[in-house]
Amino acid sequence: MAQEKEFVVIGLGRFGASLASTLYEMGYGVLGIDCSEDKVNRCKESCTHVVQADATDEATLKSLGISNFDVAIVSIGHEMQASILVTLLLKELGVPKVIAKASSEVHGKVLKRIGADRVVFPERDMGARVANHLAADNIVDYLEITPDVSIVEINASPDMVGKTLRQLDVRAKQGINIVALRRANQEVLVPPGPDEPIKTGDVLVALGSNADVRRWQNGDKA
Ligand code: ATP
Repeated sequence: MAQEKEFVVIGLGRFGASLASTLYEMGYGVLGIDCSEDKVNRCKESCTHVVQADATDEATLKSLGISNFDVAIVSIGHEMQASILVTLLLKELGVPKVIAKASSEVHGKVLKRIGADRVVFPERDMGARVANHLAADNIVDYLEITPDVSIVEINASPDMVGKTLRQLDVRAKQGINIVALRRANQEVLVPPGPDEPIKTGDVLVALGSNADVRRWQNGDKA
C-alpha cells in the first residue's frame, strides 16, 4: 500500500457491511457507522471500529473526527433523505472523497449535484452484469467502463485454440483489444504478446464497445 488510507462506511446494510469487511481484510482502517444496534454488533469483527450513531447529526460526525478520513462511503440506499443529508454534511466537513450509493437514477442525480465525488448503483450494475453472463455462455465476467464500453472476460473458444492474437487480429477485424490473457494456471499475461498461442482453458480479457463485443460473440470470431 503506497499510503495508509482510512475509510468510513456509513450504513452497514448488505452493501455497506460487505464493502467495510473487504476493505478491512485488505488491511485498511475502517470505521463503520450505523444507527441500528443490531447492524453495529454484526460488523464488530469486520471493521477497525464500529459506532452506533445517527449520521445525519453533524455534531456526531464532528466528534468522530470525520474530516480526518480519506474516503467516506455512504451506503444508505432506501432512506433517500438521510443519504442526501449525510453526503452533504461529509462534503461540508471536508472529507476529500465521498462515494454514495444510489437506489434510483433520480437519487443518483441529486447525490452528484450536492457534491458526491462518485455515485454507485450496485443493484442496477449487478443486474446488468448478471444479464450479460446469462446472454453469452462463454462470458466469464463483465465490467462496464462507460455505458457503451466494457471489459469482458471470455473463455477461449475451440476455434481460437492454437492461433496467436496476431492471427486472430480482432483489433482490426472487430475493433476489440485483448488487454490480458489469463491461463488456466491463473498466470496472467498483461499485455499478451501478439505471437502467444491461445491454449485450451485460456480466458481473454477484451476491451471494446458493447456493440463490437456483442457482434464478436454472436458469430464471426476470426
Ligand atoms: P442494503 O441493500 O445494502 O442492505 P439498503 O439500501 O436496503 O441496504 P437502507 O435501509 O437504505 O438499506 O440502509 C442501509 C443501512 O443504513 C441500514 O443498516 C440502516 O440502519 C443504516 N442507516 C439508515 N439511516 C441511517 C442514519 N441516518 N445514520 C446511520 N445509519 C443509517
